[in-house]
This record gives sequence, C-alpha cells and structure tokens, in this order.
Amino acid sequence: MLVSLNEILPPAQKEKYAVGLFNTVTFEMARGVIAAAEETKSPVIIGTAEVLLPFAPLEELAYLIVPMAKKASVPVAVHFDHGMTPELIVKAMKCGFSSVMYDCSLMEYEDNIASCREMAKIAHIFGASIEAELGHVGANEDGSAEGEAADSIYTDPIQAKDFAQRSNVDALAVAIGTSHGAYKSAPKLDFDRLESIAAATSVPLVLHGGSGLSDDDFKKSIQKGISKVNIFTDINNVSAQKASRAAGTNMGMTDLIPDIVEGIKQATIQKMELFGCCGRG
Ligand SMILES: [Zn+2]
Repeated sequence: MLVSLNEILPPAQKEKYAVGLFNTVTFEMARGVIAAAEETKSPVIIGTAEVLLPFAPLEELAYLIVPMAKKASVPVAVHFDHGMTPELIVKAMKCGFSSVMYDCSLMEYEDNIASCREMAKIAHIFGASIEAELGHVGANEDGSAEGEAADSIYTDPIQAKDFAQRSNVDALAVAIGTSHGAYKSAPKLDFDRLESIAAATSVPLVLHGGSGLSDDDFKKSIQKGISKVNIFTDINNVSAQKASRAAGTNMGMTDLIPDIVEGIKQATIQKMELFGCCGRG
C-alpha cells in the first residue's frame, strides 16, 4: 500500500530500526526492491532523485512505481529525493509521489528553514511527507584522502532542534561523516554528534550516503537514532554487474532480467536484515 514517511518512520524511530530508501530508476530495480520488501514483510521507500531524472523521466517513472507501491502487500512510500527545484517537487506530488525531500542544505540557515517551511505546507496539503537536510552531505567525487567529502558540513545538534521545530518537516537528513556515491576509503562517522542530534530533536533522522558503509556503521547509526537510510550506489552497481554477464554473448535482455531482479532483491534483503525492518511491514 502507498503511504508517506509519516506512517513508516515514527514506528521505526520508536523501536530503533531503520527503513531503506532504495532509489529505483528502472522497472527491474523497482521489482527487485518491492519483492524484497514483500518477502521479508518490511516497510520500504522507493523513488528517485532530481539528479537521476535524466535516466528515468519523472512522470513515466511515477506511472510505473506509484501503482506498484499501491499494489504491494507492505507499506511503500514513493519519495522524490534531493528535490532542488520547487516546480519539480510539486510535479512529483501531482504525479503521486507520497514523499519529497527539499534540499536547501547549501542555503544560509534561515533561508533553509523558510524554504522548507513553505514547501512543508504544500506537501502536507498533498498528504505527502517532507524531508529536509541540515548541514551538508557532500559527494565522494570531491572526497579527500580521509574518505570525507570536501564540501560536507556537519550538522549542529542545537540548530537541528530549532530547525525541526520551525520548519515543520517530517524527517531530517543529517551530516555526520557520510558522503554520496562510492567511497574511496572508509568513512569515519561522528556517532557522538548523531547521539546529541537525536537527543535534541524528536524528528526522525535520515542517513544519506549509505552505500558502502560497514555493517557496524549501520548498526551503530540506527542504535543512535537513524530511522531512514538511503541506498542507491549498491543496487545500481548490482544491476550493472548482472547485466555485464551478457558481454560477448548472444544473450538478450530477457535472459538477463530475471537475474537482475533477483540480484537487486538479494542485495535489498541483505540491507533490510541489517536495518532490522523485516517483519515490521
Ligand atoms: Zn542524499
């Protein structure tokens, strides 16, 4: 069934497990992730991000994944991640997305609050949930040798409390040492900071840049207050690995599709077991 983050994250926060957002830019990815959720009876979040729209246009993807979410036997939120353009965020909700992220993390603090507060009003009229980002989770492309993105700005716990109250968002992405994309070296997460943020605010917290973290990093992050983990690179790579089997052969897509879906499903189940969300759907 199609739900928003407001049906999925508060129970996760209370019971100390996390729910994954698996961005799904192909039919095979969406099928694999939803099959994993149904098999493990997990709630799940699927969707896309503004930066991924060149690979799967918003409307067409929505026509595909919103009905899949509605038909699923477990709660599925359809989330538009890292929306930067208000028009596209509103378009996503008009297309049936049940959740959006408005990423104003590179704006000044007060502008970030004001922009997210305005978008929260709109999202709530749609019955959708909204996520914001405070601090900034950078990208690994610019990463330093320490595995820390050069443009990351860590989240301040005191600001997090104020931000959550005044912006009225339903979930908050925090920057504690992760980065987007594939890590060049193991990231060092600031768990003390995460603990302080979780103690200061009641809003469910989100960890971006989840692909490539160790099992221990996930477990500790969830234990210290993360309720949603974003995964893309991992399942994106599984799709490509499964498809590469065809190189130099006469195989067609129909030979590969079952393998790709199964690969995505297994990779997703592995994460769901780690996040502790199995049986919670
Ligand atoms: Zn992100």
